Amino acid sequence: MVWNRTTHIWNDCEKIIHQRTNTVPFDLVPPDCNPGVSVRVIKPLESSELNLETVFEKFHPAAQTFTDIIGHYISGERPKGIKETEEMLRDKDIITGVGELVLDSNFIKLQPPKQGLQYYLSRLDFDSLVRKQESKAKLWKILTLVFGIITCATLLFILRRQYKCYKTEQDQSRLQREMLAVKKQRLQELDLTEDEVPQNACAICLTRDRSCVFLECGQVCSCMACYEALPVPKKCPICRNAISRIVPLYNS
Ligand SMILES: [Zn+2]
Ligand SMILES: [Zn+2]
Repeated sequence: MVWNRTTHIWNDCEKIIHQRTNTVPFDLVPPDCNPGVSVRVIKPLESSELNLETVFEKFHPAAQTFTDIIGHYISGERPKGIKETEEMLRDKDIITGVGELVLDSNFIKLQPPKQGLQYYLSRLDFDSLVRKQESKAKLWKILTLVFGIITCATLLFILRRQYKCYKTEQDQSRLQREMLAVKKQRLQELDLTEDEVPQNACAICLTRDRSCVFLECGQVCSCMACYEALPVPKKCPICRNAISRIVPLYNS
């Protein structure tokens, strides 16, 4: 027999302020009451699923004296009262026990299993108890699966972003190398050294002045004639972004 006496304080939240548990050793006997067979239940409070029957419940409203009101004002808490409940496992209650069975001299003991396995004492019959645990296990499996998928998706997202950054860097350095090669070739054609090219010279022909702004990248690197000569679809030779329109530059 297990007997639990609990006193609660009611607030917006509930607090257990005192709990007293009394246990009396008890035996489980088969439903047909065969007097020869019985199982002594050891440490019933370590079991899960043991819901006790409420046999007493009383609510004591909190006294509201002047000192109490001041006290509540200071603490910020205003208790509504105290609820006393008593729960117990009655004699003749039908209980299913799942645990470790040990033969101890003259009687069989049911005790919490070793290696941290669960110990059950329940009002449900064995099949319902198994079904309940299975549905719990299923819920955990689903949750694990969901969290697994979320973790994988996050990892994939991070990897994709990293790959994009890496790709952009690679593209930019390739473009730079290509531009340098084109420039070198053009310098050879013109028979000029790099220092002889004016600072404002078009990056493509290296002779005329830069005379237009590419949008949306904003690059000022080309003369109008070289822009016209760019293959369609027109792309900025520096960053390779599409040129949606240009703005002519007028030097005065
Ligand atoms: Zn040009
Ligand atoms: Zn550009």
